Amino acid sequence: MSDMCATPGLLPFNEALTTILANVKPITETLTLPIEQALGYVLATSVVSPVNVPPHDNSAMDGYAFALQSLHESSRLTLAGRSMAGAPYDGLCRPGQCIRIMTGAKIPTGCDTVEMQENTRIDDDNVDFLANKSLGANVRKAGEDINMGDTVLIAGKTLNAVDIGILASLGIAEIVVYRKLKAALIATGDELKSPGQQLLEGDIYESNRFVLAGMLAKLNVEIINFGIIDDDITLLKKTFVQADAQADVVISSGGVSVGEADYTKTVLEQLGTVGFWKIAMKPGKPLAFGALENSVFFGLPGNPVSALITFHQLALVAIVKMQNASLLKRTQLMAKTVSTLKKSPGRQDFQRGIFSVNEAGENIVTSTGAQGSGILSSLLGANCFIILASEQGQVNAGDMVKVELFDQYL
Ligand code: AMP
Ligand code: MG
Repeated sequence: MSDMCATPGLLPFNEALTTILANVKPITETLTLPIEQALGYVLATSVVSPVNVPPHDNSAMDGYAFALQSLHESSRLTLAGRSMAGAPYDGLCRPGQCIRIMTGAKIPTGCDTVEMQENTRIDDDNVDFLANKSLGANVRKAGEDINMGDTVLIAGKTLNAVDIGILASLGIAEIVVYRKLKAALIATGDELKSPGQQLLEGDIYESNRFVLAGMLAKLNVEIINFGIIDDDITLLKKTFVQADAQADVVISSGGVSVGEADYTKTVLEQLGTVGFWKIAMKPGKPLAFGALENSVFFGLPGNPVSALITFHQLALVAIVKMQNASLLKRTQLMAKTVSTLKKSPGRQDFQRGIFSVNEAGENIVTSTGAQGSGILSSLLGANCFIILASEQGQVNAGDMVKVELFDQYL
């Protein structure tokens, strides 16, 4: 969808995303992993259940199993045996008899119903049933959770804790997944120092790699960290070549605008086919995207909020595609803004907000305050982006706005 109101020369956000997605390919290499190591990996083949879960009819209660017909004839039944979880009663329960049964134990042959022990009275081998029951009460049927042959997990699923539990419950010990993607992380800038180092005049602490590493870790991507690289053409070139040799995705930040120390462009022109874009989004106007010899390259802007948002909205979506994971669905809602939102037409804004539902049940959103692209603290406490279309101007308090809830990566 083209954005008619974007400032001329700026690439509409949706076109940038579409172009990026069209230019990245899913990896093909798979491996077999024990399920306890598969958390966060992307499933390569769909899983069909080899068994029924539960495998047999079993009791949901501690009590007595019997044929309901027997109770229609007498409220007193004769105790004939017991069925424990893992030690079933292997005889036949005859009319007029009942079997002591524990939760999870197999329903004995001849029984169809279970009464909980609290509703019975036992006297030697006689059990009196104090309440009426309906057929099948307290019986968990074989296959009521999962039937043999059901497709339980679809290829492309990123395996979470529940998925691993389901696999275990099916008796599946190993699973075929796509290998991890490898991402090289590079921060560029003479002014950048690592936390723990002393700041000299004009220096700042580097934070982009930490934010990006956190999101990449949640994506189960292996990180190759190249640290901070000075604004030096030779050094940058050497680093990008090394990164390209080791990674599927190379992610740098800084140096993509038109400043005098912005060498990323010069270097990448020599190494691959990388385009330098000005995207009609705010924050995050400058972005480099393209291909090196072996890898996909993202040159994120240096400003911390810009780096985070371009990564989250563009690079992350591409990485998910490269991983073969099913497409991200982010939750978007309409909400009434409590704050006035500054905005001028020309770029799509991703302002940071706090979404909630008020006492009247209305969706409301509050701005986190100053929205400069260097103000990382504008993300503190935020739980959503307030997405304002390119053509939108200032938004008044009380107006409805589109909100995108933060996903699991933020
Ligand atoms: P640049 O894109 O290199 O012109 O950087 C834009 C702004 O972001 C400058 O104020 C930089 O100091 C800052 N910046 C660049 N890289 C980082 C980083 N890795 N961490 C924190 N701030 C950065
Ligand atoms: Mg710089």
